[in-house]
Amino acid sequence: MGDIIQLLPDNVANQIAAGEVVQRPASVVKELLENAIDAEATIIKLIVKEGGKTLIQVVDNGRGMSVTDARMSLERHATSKITSADDLFHLNTKGFRGEALASIAAIAHLEMQTRQEIDEVGTMIRIEGGDLITQEVVVTPKGTSIAVKNLFFNIPARRKFLKSTQVEHRHIVDEFHRVAIAHPSIQFYFYSNGSELFNLPAVNLKKRIVRIFGQKTNEKLVPIKEETQLVVIDGFVIKPEYAKKSRGEQFFFVNNRFVKSPYLHHAVNSAFEGLLKPDTYPGYFIFLEVDPESIDINIHPTKTEIKFDDEHSLYAILKSCIKHSLGQFNIRPVLDFNKDPNLDTSYASTQQFGIPPMVSVDRTFNPFSTSEDKKKLGGFKKHTGQWEGMFLDLEGKEEEKDDFSSFTVESELISGSIFTEREGIDRIGVPTFQLKRKYLVSTIKSGMLIIDQGRAHQRILYEKFLSSITIRKTISQQLLFPISLEFSKSEITAIREIKESLIALGFALEFISDTRIEISGIPPLVKESELPTILDELISDYQSEIKSEGYTESEILSKALCKSLAVKTGDILDLESQQALVNSLFGCKESKISPFNKLIYITITDLEIENKFL
Ligand code: ADP
Ligand code: MG
Repeated sequence: MGDIIQLLPDNVANQIAAGEVVQRPASVVKELLENAIDAEATIIKLIVKEGGKTLIQVVDNGRGMSVTDARMSLERHATSKITSADDLFHLNTKGFRGEALASIAAIAHLEMQTRQEIDEVGTMIRIEGGDLITQEVVVTPKGTSIAVKNLFFNIPARRKFLKSTQVEHRHIVDEFHRVAIAHPSIQFYFYSNGSELFNLPAVNLKKRIVRIFGQKTNEKLVPIKEETQLVVIDGFVIKPEYAKKSRGEQFFFVNNRFVKSPYLHHAVNSAFEGLLKPDTYPGYFIFLEVDPESIDINIHPTKTEIKFDDEHSLYAILKSCIKHSLGQFNIRPVLDFNKDPNLDTSYASTQQFGIPPMVSVDRTFNPFSTSEDKKKLGGFKKHTGQWEGMFLDLEGKEEEKDDFSSFTVESELISGSIFTEREGIDRIGVPTFQLKRKYLVSTIKSGMLIIDQGRAHQRILYEKFLSSITIRKTISQQLLFPISLEFSKSEITAIREIKESLIALGFALEFISDTRIEISGIPPLVKESELPTILDELISDYQSEIKSEGYTESEILSKALCKSLAVKTGDILDLESQQALVNSLFGCKESKISPFNKLIYITITDLEIENKFL
């Protein structure tokens, strides 16, 4: 056989490289925005259509390119940012690999218009799948506009692999957030399908965060600051009582570049230790400035993972810095940091009937403590109301009873398996007791049953909410005074998307403006005082879960709501509640696994017990 090795044609090589650089429309958004920033633009516009599947365009007022550079920029390994491998260690630009534009051009229709300040006229280039279609002279403002259409048009397999428009849109919004937070002094616009999603004027970091995540964020931020030889830390953490049940707002920037670092994330978590309620996650916007020579950001092609030379010290410094700030804030809780009168509209002042979000942080909580410190438990009081609510379901109102009677039918089916005949249908009267404020223990035909109370209640509520949404038969608790709540624009978009399901769950709501809704009715189990928190959680869960797909909207919402409303570890349940819980659990369609795929109960057989005594 003769020689068989040949060099890949450029367009094939570019398509392969594109596989690394461009996973989805959001990757294109990231590359284009970063190029605009590297070109020192002060105003950047992002325009997308259909989650970026049909159009992604970035327009900047940066330095633009010469005729030759415009053409060159679309070649592989074409970069103005480094000239030798050594430069890699002193980077202060976003890009440096010189392959983004070439890769994008290889798998899409790309149109570039660009002009430098010193040039009279600019250049327009059209490329389709790596082939140059036209290059001509145009009259265009200073700066660069790059439009990317029909991404993956020539790689059908990749195009098919794209998720729904909604999901791809979410990824773009996430990417936009990261870039916009890292560069508050640049003005950003973001248009999607012709409507303006964000208009972010050049401001400071705090105002930028507030502008993106909504007015109410203002009161949640605690500044952090630290300067050592190794690192300069700056930014904000979210007060522990506003911690969310989903990992929403968690941002690390190293030398102004968004990165993911499980290790540093752990440092933040440990600084919050003891301040967070179970199953909540801290929010943060943390900027670390380190010597570029002490990091390697190039270990991952999309450049979000990072390696530090001295991780251990960084960990310790970050942790103590956050602890310090949180400590300060604990001692002086009324202090408003960096108070900015323009942004100072909290819930309280905008509601007709001001109810501030009341989330209690139980600093003394210990799931294994004894019953003497009962009184200290914040969680107990909070949830008794919901328990009463649950009883209404079981014994109370007409419509609710329907739900329950259908449960009973189901439980007859199950009774054959683990309960004795007498216990099968109605376990009221069967002994139960609560263990460690976490488990319910009871007897069954074959031995002993240990139920995780939180997971069991989640399952019960989940099925209830799911059926509410599906059969659209709900009760709403009318509020005496409607509550008006402020949200960010993207949250409002999410609320619009799930409006029908929210109504089916028992919320009565109306859109007042593009950042405000008015609530006049809530589901029976929701307490008015907890409404803002619960809605926040619902929306952020919806926004983050929508990305994972595989779940329907009803499932996502039912999951989010049951997580918020279910009893928790630490809640004390009286006998009646315990029995009702066990009863309803075994009336569920699925009683073994929680909506979050966790085991709800275990059984220990007589034999296993007897064997222990051998
Ligand atoms: P990299 O950013 O890694 O250098 P890219 O393929 O993203 O590689 O861009 C190649 C080159 O094109 C850049 O180095 C820069 O000189 C030029 N360029 C790209 N986008 C812009 C822009 N918006 N304004 C000015 N120059 C740009
Ligand atoms: Mg680049």
